Amino acid sequence: MNKNPKAIARVLLVEDDEDDFILTSEYLNQLTSHSFEIDWVTNPTEALEQLNLGKHDICLLDYQLGAYNGLTVLEKASEDGCSIPIIMLTGQSDEALDQSALAAGAVDYLVKSEMTTARFARAIRYALARQEIENERLERINAETQNQSKDRFLAHLSHELRTPLTSILGYTEILLNSNKAPHAESELNIILNNGQHLLGLLNNVLDLSKIAVGKLEYNFSTINVDSFIADIFCLMQVHAADKGLILKMHAKNALPLQIYSDPVRLRQVLINLIHNGIKFTETGQITLTIWTEFINEQELIKFSVADTGQGIPEQMLGNIFKPFEQVEDFISRKEQGAGLGLSICTELIQHMGGSITVNSVVNQGSEFIFSIDPGDIADQERVLLAFEQEHTSHEIIALTPLQGHVLVVDDMDDIRQLIGQICQSFGLKVSYASNGLQAIEQCKSAKENNHCFDLILMDIHMPTLDGKRAIKEIRALKLDNAIIAVTAATMKGVKQELLALGFNHIVAKPIDKNELYQGLANYLSIENQSSALQNSVQRFLVVEDDEDAADVTVLLLESLGIEAVKAQTAQICQDLLIKENNWTTILLDLHLPDASGLDLAHSIKQSHPNIRIILVSGATVAEPSLKQAGINKAILKPINLEILKSLI
Ligand code: ADP
Repeated sequence: MNKNPKAIARVLLVEDDEDDFILTSEYLNQLTSHSFEIDWVTNPTEALEQLNLGKHDICLLDYQLGAYNGLTVLEKASEDGCSIPIIMLTGQSDEALDQSALAAGAVDYLVKSEMTTARFARAIRYALARQEIENERLERINAETQNQSKDRFLAHLSHELRTPLTSILGYTEILLNSNKAPHAESELNIILNNGQHLLGLLNNVLDLSKIAVGKLEYNFSTINVDSFIADIFCLMQVHAADKGLILKMHAKNALPLQIYSDPVRLRQVLINLIHNGIKFTETGQITLTIWTEFINEQELIKFSVADTGQGIPEQMLGNIFKPFEQVEDFISRKEQGAGLGLSICTELIQHMGGSITVNSVVNQGSEFIFSIDPGDIADQERVLLAFEQEHTSHEIIALTPLQGHVLVVDDMDDIRQLIGQICQSFGLKVSYASNGLQAIEQCKSAKENNHCFDLILMDIHMPTLDGKRAIKEIRALKLDNAIIAVTAATMKGVKQELLALGFNHIVAKPIDKNELYQGLANYLSIENQSSALQNSVQRFLVVEDDEDAADVTVLLLESLGIEAVKAQTAQICQDLLIKENNWTTILLDLHLPDASGLDLAHSIKQSHPNIRIILVSGATVAEPSLKQAGINKAILKPINLEILKSLI
């Protein structure tokens, strides 16, 4: 049996002379590279009909077709967008004709009287190879177009889902923060939890579909291990404590202080695993252990997340890393989840140069272990990190309320919010900045308005401008407020260095509520009522066509003391900008009925360069487009109170 059957090529032979047809067919049949299926037509009309069908791999076209000439066929075929390679056959050699045939789109030109088998074979081979390349190109374009439509669809879907979530989460927060529905607090909390859960699911589904088309974005950078882990501990400890569980963290050996990986994705994996640990454990603890280990002469960082929960049956251990796989039947299970987290984690970990495994004993607990490539850490300083604390945050007993206005500066959104919430629970008014530069700007604008923050809580490791550089500039403004460093830095001498830089005090990460209270109480008191920032100087224009989303955003802003007005179209927005001239910020939806948010932003920036424009979108918009449109900042839907606070 012939193991490699010859490839089949379909040939359209346009020839009005039967002898020439037989001769050309014979040439074709002598070729060993392909077996040819020949369709024979004798006039231009039939030739064009066949070419338009696009079912042939190659066309051999006689120049002289009775009263017509092949060039007309060639020109018409190119005009119709025919992509089949056409070889022109002529009776005798003619330089001018050769040129016109190639100019009209022929891939080759053969003179019948001078034809040899070798020459003919080469022309056919080249034409077919060319066609194959063209087919691959078309397939690639097709696939790219499909991917683009999928991307567009995902961005649209994301927008459509996030917009109503803005209303659900926003109104729930308003009701919870007001005294309007004290009797319905537990129901409202259920709505808030479920809304947030829905948002988590939406993010997972989007991640998974991006993974499927290889479009998930990764951003590798230097990670400061101590503060990175401390932040995660800080966040997850609150969740564990809510369920009466203890979260522990420890390092088995001395760890490098800096590694190179994707901080957002590594955090996503750790939070997912710890979150699962909390979800599937009723009593006991969740322990995160970190260590370095040489595997095949490469030093990796390893993480283990172990719990004392319900465990996973042996036969399910292999399945849980696949999408949508869960141990319990989805009808009988009591925990929420779509079974996507672990499959996303597996992908992310692989991208970070590692792998994940699990050990589990039913009713005793599970342990997920994964590794990542930390980059070149051979020369890194090593420190034995400890995260255990004497107090846990929920041990706090009633504390005397504090008074004052605190600026919380931290680059991690949820840590910033967490610290802000703790400060609010102490009775403090809170503003937010997500890096040193923003903190300086806020201090400057407060000073211009003859106000001053009473205290600044400043993270040390931040992008754009870190805490150490920021304090120098803030001190240069001659403000006399206290600045407390919030840091997990464990290197020797850090404390002295920070105090020498002008920090009044240092609070360790992970944050302990008692320690933070003591730190704040040293500088703030009930008597200390220094002037606070008046939010009323800010005026927001909320440009959003979804009425519910617009209303809730306005209400949330008003609850923060900000005057806000809504505009449902680009036209109304433009009219309001002409009518009134004291707008400070525009919250601009990406999709408006009469314009794109980007175009509108561009035109507003021409007429009102000083208005801050914040784009609100359902999916991430590329940085160059934002820059081009003059957008100052972009935020993802759903909008919530904390996001708005950070904008003010
Ligand atoms: P989800 O938790 O959203 O269902 P995951 O992909 O994170 O999705 O997990 C898949 C399944 O693996 C879970 O539904 C659960 O059955 C099982 N699982 C994951 N982590 C644990 C754990 N720590 N203890 C027990 N079962 C777990």
